[in-house]
Amino acid sequence: METDRYTVMLVTAGHEGAKSFSVKKSHIRIACFSIIVFAFISLFSFGTSYVYYKDSAKKSQSVNKLISTINLLSQDIDENNIIESKLREKLQGIEETLLEMQDILQKKGIKKELAIGGEFIPADRMSLSYIDYMKNDIDNLFNTMKSTPVGTPLKGKITSDFGYRKDPFKRKTGFHSGIDIDANYGQPIVATADGIVTQASWHSSYGKTVIIKHEDKYETLFGHLSAITVKEGDKVRVGDVIGKAGSTGRSTGTHLHYEVMKDGKRVNPKTFLSLK
Ligand SMILES: [Zn+2]
Repeated sequence: METDRYTVMLVTAGHEGAKSFSVKKSHIRIACFSIIVFAFISLFSFGTSYVYYKDSAKKSQSVNKLISTINLLSQDIDENNIIESKLREKLQGIEETLLEMQDILQKKGIKKELAIGGEFIPADRMSLSYIDYMKNDIDNLFNTMKSTPVGTPLKGKITSDFGYRKDPFKRKTGFHSGIDIDANYGQPIVATADGIVTQASWHSSYGKTVIIKHEDKYETLFGHLSAITVKEGDKVRVGDVIGKAGSTGRSTGTHLHYEVMKDGKRVNPKTFLSLK
């Protein structure tokens, strides 16, 4: 006889008797169907999460790549900033040297305005080696300028030129080995270039006299001083006071006798008084 129920018997070992209960067949089918559906749902959800996981791993890899690219780019920007600041530092150094040159020219009594600038070259078109080369040139020029006696040791009118002239003490013509510059008694006299004092003593003709030896080939002489404010061996810089104007030695009035020697030979100091 066909029945719509299953009988389930539960028999426990060691005990007599058995328990039984009946279950509708339709309920068993529903249960089996439910298990299968549950299994399918589980599989499906596992599969989709796995795919999603793989996809997101790929996505995070691309994000990491992007971050490292950004980092590399920012490193490049940092390096460029370092180069730019180095360029600016060097350019600043050049400008400072030029301004110092201008200051020295002014101390020498030469009103020379330097044309700093000209055509502007942007930093990115300049190479560091080119700027080094430029700086080296300027440094050489600067050293030459500092040790060349260009300019005036004292502001005043030239009363006697270099060359042959009527000797103020003798009737015959004599050679004047320097120029005479009119001065007030005690007026400060300055070095016209950096150098070392090689003489600071009495001279039979020039009275109280100072001689300065400059780098390479130049020497300068200052005569008829009323006072000497340096001593032999002193290092002097352009613009330093070396003595005071007077009328010592063979002199007819307060003035400075100024000589410039080049390679031991006396030259006309007038050509060194200005750059023109
Ligand atoms: Zn003289």
